[in-house]
Amino acid sequence: MQCAYCTEKAVMNTPPRCKNHFVELFEKTAHETIKEFNLIQEGQTLCVAASGGKDSLALLEVLHTQYPVEALCVDEGIAGYRDTSIRDLQAYCTEKSIPLRIVSFADLGSKSLDELNPTHPCSTCGVLRRKALLQYSTKYDLIATGHNLDDEAQTILMNILRNQRQLLSRIGPKTPAQQGIAARIKPFYLIPEKEIRAYCLLKQITTNFSECPNVVKSFRWRVGEELNELERKQPGTKKNIVTAFLNKHYVREEHKRCEQHFCRRCGMPASNELCRACTLITIGS
Ligand code: SF4
Ligand SMILES: [Zn+2]
Ligand SMILES: [Zn+2]
Repeated sequence: MQCAYCTEKAVMNTPPRCKNHFVELFEKTAHETIKEFNLIQEGQTLCVAASGGKDSLALLEVLHTQYPVEALCVDEGIAGYRDTSIRDLQAYCTEKSIPLRIVSFADLGSKSLDELNPTHPCSTCGVLRRKALLQYSTKYDLIATGHNLDDEAQTILMNILRNQRQLLSRIGPKTPAQQGIAARIKPFYLIPEKEIRAYCLLKQITTNFSECPNVVKSFRWRVGEELNELERKQPGTKKNIVTAFLNKHYVREEHKRCEQHFCRRCGMPASNELCRACTLITIGS
């Protein structure tokens, strides 16, 4: 198949694109998302939540040529997995001269995820990761994450299936700043996961594509599998879920309604007196 924009051979379809045009359009989509949703304003300081996986390395690659970025990594303590990805991240940041800070669950006063060994590792991990990211990014205006179209479609569906209305406030390309906590932005919001994988391969970014060993225990994984099946039978499903939601002013209303309480102990957004992270740390210690 030939590229729709030149005479080169296509490496991706819908629409057919050669290597150069794929990379060009990928980066253009991310930058247009930034513009359309006004994710980054001039002079704002920016930190990328980076793990060394494909999404965060692709995000650093797209952003670092246009903005002065720093990287913040949370080491959950997952032996045989996170240590490998952190090595890829350190190598990448050294090569591109990007300042990198690594924090661990111990910095929050918690045991590592392996030591905690919870029944539902992803729920515990998610709560503590989020806390670490928010807590250590307060000196920046913005924290950019590698969340992609697949992640967002999964999150929307998970929240609907579990009727977790309060989590809807985290949906959308931007979560506003509040009480000294950096605003969170998702420049890959409209980019499918498979395109991020292809981008890393074509740009020869060194990253281990393997997934966390805990992922198969998560609800997100099951929802993701179902969504992939739906997407296979009906292409465009994931994008339709995300754009349908984006258009709902319901999400904006939820933003106003939710996250207006703050944890008594650490000051992070909370729905009870203590945030979920402080509750977990108290129980786990
Ligand atoms: S798959 Fe689960 S345990 Fe592994 S890094 Fe992601 S949230 Fe944490
Ligand atoms: Zn081309
Ligand atoms: Zn707290």
